[in-house]
Formats: sequence, structure tokens, C-alpha cells
Amino acid sequence: MSIPMKQPGLPLLAAAFCLFCSGPALAHEFVLDPGHSKNRPGAKSCSGAYEYAYNDNLAGFISRHLAARNIAVEMTRTPDGEISLTDRAKTAAGKKLFLSLHHDSAQPQFVRQINGNPCSDKAEGYSIFVSAKNPHFQKSLACARVLGEALRRSGLVPSAHHGENIKGENRKSLDAHLGIYLFDDLVVLKNAESPALLLEAAVIINPADEVRAGSEAYRLKIAQAVEQTMLFAKKL
Ligand SMILES: [Zn+2]
Repeated sequence: MSIPMKQPGLPLLAAAFCLFCSGPALAHEFVLDPGHSKNRPGAKSCSGAYEYAYNDNLAGFISRHLAARNIAVEMTRTPDGEISLTDRAKTAAGKKLFLSLHHDSAQPQFVRQINGNPCSDKAEGYSIFVSAKNPHFQKSLACARVLGEALRRSGLVPSAHHGENIKGENRKSLDAHLGIYLFDDLVVLKNAESPALLLEAAVIINPADEVRAGSEAYRLKIAQAVEQTMLFAKKL
């Protein structure tokens, strides 16, 4: 819907309100990157839903939470949009923080099929990834710590499965208590020209974790932790 701008008083009124603005209102200092897309949907959950939909719902929830607190974020794609990994990373240039949002699975040997969907009790919880190839690695790691601490304070627990010494995992743990792993070659992290994190918010092949991941209470905890992380990143 377009808003008619014929009333002559409105621009003046808006300008008067902006006298109270502390800076450029709602400048995009942060990027949220909902992982995957409709055409590349990511992991399938134990209920048969696809990861990209969980990523979109979480990104939308966080974006609304932040907008209500005057923290404006840019999204790398719209819910129906397609974008390459390198183009996602390009949106990070000059920003305070790039945060890619994903939902997790586990290696095939731990998965059983239930009603045609992949399910597993192997892992549950969140994981945070950083890349030492990111030009702002130390700032990324500092932000990862703030995010992990906020998630732990809210009662969330990290998953240990990415640190296991098996094919497909074997990620170096930088902080087991906070759930922070090193993953140097993640394209969106290493190419981002800003501090950058990737959050696996929950393990959606785990039936209990999938129920949690779909709840408003869980998304709110993550949104509040992201808010604290962005306020920290702003000062770096
Ligand atoms: Zn993913």
C-alpha cells in the first residue's frame, strides 16, 4: 500500500519529531541472514518441515523484536527470495555484525526414518560458529561469547556433537561451555567484511528440540540474546 503524501503538514511534523532523533533513524548496522531458501531448503526436520522455513520464522521474529527497540536490521533475502552465499556475505560490508541463522541436523549414521522423515536423539541445543578467515575474527569471537553467555543465562544449552572426532564433524571447540566452534571455510563467515557469526538455533531432527524451536518462548530467548549481542557489537 502506498501512503499519500499530499498533506502539507506531514513532512514538517516528521522533521520536528526528528529533532529528537539521536542519529540517522533506523540505519542498518546489522545483517540477519536466514539460511538456505525455498529452492535450497536445508535440513528436513523430524516432522517433515524444512530448515529454511524455521530460519525465516526465527529471522522474522528477531527482526520484529529488534525493530520494536529501534535496532534496524537488513535481511539478506526475503522469504521467497534466492541469493548466493557470496552475495549474502557482501551485505556485511561496513556493518557492525552479520548473523546467519540456521537449524541443525546430525550425521546420517545417527538418523532413523520416522514416517519418512529423518529423526534422531543424537544431539539437541544450539551451536555458534566463527571463522578465523574472517577479517574481524577477534571481534567475531567476542560477539560469539556475548551471544553464548546470553543464551546460557536464558537456560539454553549448547550441543557438543560438532566437536566429535567423526567424519563430517571434528570442529575445533573454542568454548565448550558457550557452544562456540571454529569453522574457517563457511563462505558467509569468511567472506563477510564485518564481524560475523553463524547460529544453529536448535537441532530440528530431534523431536523435542524441534518443538522447542517452533515455540515463541524459544524464539524470544534467542531474540533477546541477539539484541544483547548487537548492542555489544555496536560499541566495538
Ligand atoms: Zn543450515
